[in-house]
Amino acid sequence: METITIGHSAVVTSRIGLGTWAIGGWMWGGTDEKESIQTIQRAVERGITLIDTAPVYGFGRSEEIVGRAIQEGKLRDKVQLATKLGLAWKDGKVFRDSRPTRIRQEIEDSLHRLRTDRIDLYQVHWPDLETPLEETARVLEDLCREGKILAIGVSNFTPTQMDAFRSAARLDALQSPYNLFERGIEAAELPYAEKTGLTVLGYGALCRGLLSGRIQADTKFEGDDLRRIDPKFQGERFPHYLRAVDELRELAQRRYGKSVLALAVRWVLDQGPTIALWGARHPGQIDSVNEVEGWKLDADCKTEIEAILARCVPNPVGPEFMAPPAKRPGMV
Ligand code: NAP
Repeated sequence: METITIGHSAVVTSRIGLGTWAIGGWMWGGTDEKESIQTIQRAVERGITLIDTAPVYGFGRSEEIVGRAIQEGKLRDKVQLATKLGLAWKDGKVFRDSRPTRIRQEIEDSLHRLRTDRIDLYQVHWPDLETPLEETARVLEDLCREGKILAIGVSNFTPTQMDAFRSAARLDALQSPYNLFERGIEAAELPYAEKTGLTVLGYGALCRGLLSGRIQADTKFEGDDLRRIDPKFQGERFPHYLRAVDELRELAQRRYGKSVLALAVRWVLDQGPTIALWGARHPGQIDSVNEVEGWKLDADCKTEIEAILARCVPNPVGPEFMAPPAKRPGMV
C-alpha cells in the first residue's frame, strides 16, 4: 500500500483511506453495525490504515462503530484515526459551530467514542463563518501541543480561509470533494495545497458510488439516502453520468485490464499529494483495493478521460448540495 506523510506532521498513513460516513447510517438509508465492524477490520487487513470519520456521521454512531472495531480488533497502533470538529446538531438539524469552548468538549466526546487517547488527524469539518478562523486554529494548535491530536486539517475551506487559519496555526491537510466528476479544487485549492505543503484528502472518490460501476438507471435508494436528492442522480443528468461511467469502464478495461472503480481511485492518487477517501459499509466493497496499487495512469489515458467527460456530461454539477447552512439557529 502506498503511503504519505500528512503535511508537516509526523503522521504517515496509507494513500487510500476508508470513509465511514455511510457506516453512521444517516443520509445513507441506515447501516448494519456488525457488517460495518467487519468492513473496518477488512480494510485494515487489506492495508488501509487511515480511517476517516466525523461526530456528525450518524450523530456519534460512526465514531462509536470505528472505536469498537479498532478496540475489539486490537488495531489502534496499526491505524491512523481522522475525525472532525465544528458541526453541531439539534433535533436532526446540522449547523456549523467551531467556537473554542465547544471544541474542548467536542474532542473529549470524540476520544471517548473512538476509545482512544489521541486523534491522528483532527479536521475542521466546514468553515464556521460566525467564528474567527484564527480562534479555532489556536485551539487546534494547543491540542497538538498537548498531544491529543497529531496533525491539523481543515475541510471545505477556500485558500483565503486557509490563509487566515495558517496565520494562527500549523496546517497539515485539506479535505475537499475530489473525484473524476467533481474537479472544483483543481482551480485553486489543489495548487494552494501543493505550494504550502498540505496533503489533500479527496472525499467522495467514487462520487457517492457512481464511479463504483454498480449503479444502474433503475437502482433504488431507500429512506434518507442522499442520492435521492443528489442532482447527479436526477433528471437528464443521471443518464449522462451513467454513460460516462460506461465509457470509463471500457477505457479502464481496454487500457489496463482494470475496473472503473480502480481507474477512479487511481486517478485521484495520480493528481498530486493526495489521499483517496473511499466510502464503504460492506466488507466486500473494499476487497478490490489492491487493484489500485502498483500502476499509474499515462498521459494518453488522462486525455481520453477528459474527452469522455466532455462528451458525456455536457451539464456537470458539483457537490454543493451537501453544504450545511452557514448560520447557526437563531442567527440572521
Ligand atoms: P464515496 O466514497 O464516493 O462512495 C461511497 C459509496 O460507494 C458506498 O457507500 C457504496 O454505496 C459505494 N461503494 C463503495 N465501494 C463499492 C464497491 N466496491 N462496489 C459497489 N459500490 C461501492 O462517497 P462518500 O462515502 O461520501 O465519501 C468518502 C468519505 O469521504 C466519506 O465516507 C467521509 O469519510 C468523507 N466525506 C467527507 C465530507 C466532508 O465534508 N469533509 C463529505 C463527504 C464525504 P452503497 O453502500 O450504497 O452501495
